[in-house]
Amino acid sequence: MLQEHLQEYFKFDTFKPGQEEIIQSIVNGNDTVAILPTGGGKSLCYQLPGLISNKLTLVVSPLIALMKDQVDALNARGISSTFINSSIETRDMDERMQDVRDRSVQILYVAPERFASDRFLRLLSEIDIGLFAVDEAHCISQWGHDFRPDYRVLPDQISQLKNRPTVAAFTATATPEVKQDIIDRLTLLEPHVYVRGFDRPNLHFFAQSSMKPKARMHEVLRLVQSMQGSGIVYTLTRKETEVVAEFLKENDITATAYHAGMDKEKRSNVQNQFMENEFKVIVATVAFGMGVDKADIRFVIHAGMPGSIEGYYQEAGRAGRDGEKAYCILLHGGKDNGMHSWFSLKSQDDMVRQGKAPHEIADMVSMRKRQFETMKQYLESQCRRRMILSYFNDKAVNELPENCASCDICLNYQWKTSVLPRERRDRKTSSDKLSDTIGETAQMYQAGSSVEDIASMRSLGVSTIMNHLIRWYAEGGELELEQFITREEEQMVLTAMAKSDDYTRLTPIKEHLPEDFSWEKIRLVIAKIQRIFLG
Ligand code: ADP
Ligand code: MG
Repeated sequence: MLQEHLQEYFKFDTFKPGQEEIIQSIVNGNDTVAILPTGGGKSLCYQLPGLISNKLTLVVSPLIALMKDQVDALNARGISSTFINSSIETRDMDERMQDVRDRSVQILYVAPERFASDRFLRLLSEIDIGLFAVDEAHCISQWGHDFRPDYRVLPDQISQLKNRPTVAAFTATATPEVKQDIIDRLTLLEPHVYVRGFDRPNLHFFAQSSMKPKARMHEVLRLVQSMQGSGIVYTLTRKETEVVAEFLKENDITATAYHAGMDKEKRSNVQNQFMENEFKVIVATVAFGMGVDKADIRFVIHAGMPGSIEGYYQEAGRAGRDGEKAYCILLHGGKDNGMHSWFSLKSQDDMVRQGKAPHEIADMVSMRKRQFETMKQYLESQCRRRMILSYFNDKAVNELPENCASCDICLNYQWKTSVLPRERRDRKTSSDKLSDTIGETAQMYQAGSSVEDIASMRSLGVSTIMNHLIRWYAEGGELELEQFITREEEQMVLTAMAKSDDYTRLTPIKEHLPEDFSWEKIRLVIAKIQRIFLG
């Protein structure tokens, strides 16, 4: 039935994964949330129902630049549609509104700021809307990557309409937080939620955990040498893009670095050269990728763990757009967890400076933690593809065979490199595991002795004792931080870390601090960062 309408209006023979059930849900009059990846065909899901029922569809979209294209494409198919946004002259706008009143328009696109216009609100009060479609619905959530306060007026507007239309929300962002936020904020009524289309059968997933920096770099080289075609290597810091690119070049791989610290012209040159296959490998931070439309990327290697599955899948998914076999390889390093603690600490600091409320900051921190946990689950998963599809709640997981035959676990792939046994850290017993001498210092500290007292009692230097305490603290011991470093000094160290683009190497951090700034204070802040994700 629906398929005939698809043919009639769009001349397509088959639905893309998920489209049919989403359209059916809307046609049945259910509020609906549809999560499909970019390119999954969301537009058609709100375009078709109104054509079938012959009622007006109102589409809210933030993408003014794309409205004209969409409307032109629809009109070219003989589907009468129009848009009203700030790019339209007043006279033209009046005409378009009249067309809507006359029902000679079937699909009307508007940007959310339109709801601030009295004339538009008057129009809304006069017409009957069958479907109220909210495109890019993650914009209503501050957890989304593109929060737009304009979207927050939509629920009020919907409730003021003469007859409440069916409301449908569309996005490619599938975090549980964003999905729930969309439902709550739009006040959807018992919505039917559909998630489909995340499966990419031509992608092969590999993951390896807890690698040491050097071993990881060699593994990147080995992998790159063993694979055909060109690809991306993602690192967590700008510095690493340069180090890894240099290392690959020394080993006769055509490679280049790319990060946001490079000037605009350089970046666009590098990107163009990569598009034209002048480099086998581009080593980049996440600054690279948006809008890069190279279909034949054969591999995406992460030499650094991303902060969330969404982020990982978006980046890894740049491989194999042409549908040919491609590899998505995650090489997690022992240092990555601390790196993310640091990123989290930096955002906390930014939020404090922006005057955000404590509960907002706490929410952000716990969200990042939760998302990072899911990445750890990915590393430990028994099938990478199954883990990804279940994470996104994609129904395709039910159709997946026991053995997906396209991840390292299911393929029983034997990693060549030796890997550190994973350390389990336990806060309570951590001091037992430290050497006796540190334990002794820690005990004396806990008993109330000052650093100087401990030093003289143990006939050791003050700096040695300080180092003991820092090691102990890094492993989870309790230390009165304020005794050793002020809030301002901590701030200075964080700023210096941001400038040196790494939190693990002391010397570059020290270079951005006053001459007499002590090494211990830098170490203390690093220890604090390492602790955050332990707890
Ligand atoms: P999204 O908004 O989910 O990123 P779009 O709605 O822009 O995706 O659709 C992406 C492309 O897929 C468009 O060119 C659209 O015409 C095409 N498309 C949508 N549905 C189908 C279908 N059933 N069969 C073939 N092509 C389709
Ligand atoms: Mg879209």
